[in-house]
Amino acid sequence: MDCLFCAIVAGEIPSKKVYEDEALFAFYDIAPQAPVHFLVIPKKHIPSCGAITPENSAVVARCFEAITKITKELGISEFRVVSNCGETAGQTVPHLHFHVLAGRDMTWPPG
Ligand code: AMP
Ligand code: ZN
Repeated sequence: MDCLFCAIVAGEIPSKKVYEDEALFAFYDIAPQAPVHFLVIPKKHIPSCGAITPENSAVVARCFEAITKITKELGISEFRVVSNCGETAGQTVPHLHFHVLAGRDMTWPPG
């Protein structure tokens, strides 16, 4: 399958790793939108957060456990988690990912 984030998980495309375990990979975003901006992804390909089922939902909980662990390790207590689903919502890479952004004031609603 031709998927950028599957290629990053496989090490075929270099990335700046933040965290890894048997189910997850986390790495800094190549075009950061905040002083801290990393992505948490399941290693197994899931197209988006619009494709979560009872069979694959456990990995989503794992992603959020990892987000807590990573932010604590980075000394971050306030942050935003975003997952874009579909092109009009801003999704450009069709492999489920959670953006974690921190280090600046953020507006709501997002643009
Ligand atoms: P989204 O637009 O929500 O699908 O998020 C995809 C994110 O992946 C964007 O924030 C991109 O900057 C980021 N991105 C694209 N290519 C890479 C890469 N090779 N390494 C790290 N982040 C990337
Ligand atoms: Zn993928």
